[in-house]
Amino acid sequence: MLDDFDFIDHYRVCPDKGVDLDAIDTRDKGPFDKRKRGEAFTRDAIEEIQHLQYQLFTESKQSLLIVLQAPDAAGKDGLIRKVLGQMNPQGCRTYPFKVPTALQAAHDFLWRIHACTPAAGMVSIFNRSHYEDVLAVRVEKLAPEEVWRRRFDHINNFEELLADRGTRILKFYLHISPEEQLDRFRDRIDEPEKHWKLTTSDYQARERWDCYREAYYDVFEKCSSDAAPWFVIPADRKWHRNAAVAGILRETLRQMDPQLPKADVDLDQIKRLYAAAKEELQQRHSGK
Ligand code: ATP
Ligand code: MG
Repeated sequence: MLDDFDFIDHYRVCPDKGVDLDAIDTRDKGPFDKRKRGEAFTRDAIEEIQHLQYQLFTESKQSLLIVLQAPDAAGKDGLIRKVLGQMNPQGCRTYPFKVPTALQAAHDFLWRIHACTPAAGMVSIFNRSHYEDVLAVRVEKLAPEEVWRRRFDHINNFEELLADRGTRILKFYLHISPEEQLDRFRDRIDEPEKHWKLTTSDYQARERWDCYREAYYDVFEKCSSDAAPWFVIPADRKWHRNAAVAGILRETLRQMDPQLPKADVDLDQIKRLYAAAKEELQQRHSGK
């Protein structure tokens, strides 16, 4: 059953279709009947992901961009820690996107984003992204509608440009319920080591839950393409969130099929050089 499960197909938002988030159960377990199975699956998947990412890095032709969007406390940080951060940091960078600085705000909205896209062989993880410019900006009324509405086309063209250069793009929305979010806010209050995370803006954004839902509806409808699909990941259960993303990531890397580069040397010559070096070392030791 698990072997046949198509992670990409199951969680993907089909192009031109909106998503009614209310119709997707935030506690969904996907193909897993229990937590232990999900956790074992994630461990296996991460091992293969690490192997494939090594090949991607050495091949140095294709690249991968992973976009994370979610309500506060939905688990972007946990997902990075437990799954995505398991990739070799030599070939993988994480970029958090906060409220734009004055310099960033003095440019077009994709300026700061483009600078962080992955070079050949690399993986970039975006913790929030250019989608804030049609989400937070829209809901918090930081720009007029005629400005943010034009951005959907800009985003699609931008992502097509990246795809043309050999960048695969995976965009994940972590889907939690308002009840689960409030439970996690409670944990932040109860646990002193989480106090640094407390902010009043979490509660303000929460008040506009329905407006964010509406904004996400447009994002999914307008910006989920074959080249840059959105995935809705039920995330009330952290172990399911990790397993689903690991499954999609592994499948994508398998499809990318990165190849170790062929040796660019004469192997016989290298073997001769090795034999000579070894002999020289032995002579040095015997001469002591
Ligand atoms: P956590 O889940 O730990 O709270 P976070 O990603 O919410 O992490 P914060 O520093 O709390 O990080 O919040 C970053 C804030 O920056 C978010 O409220 C987000 O909406 C906002 N932001 C990011 N990009 C933009 C943008 N282009 N315009 C306006 N606001 C933005
Ligand atoms: Mg926050």
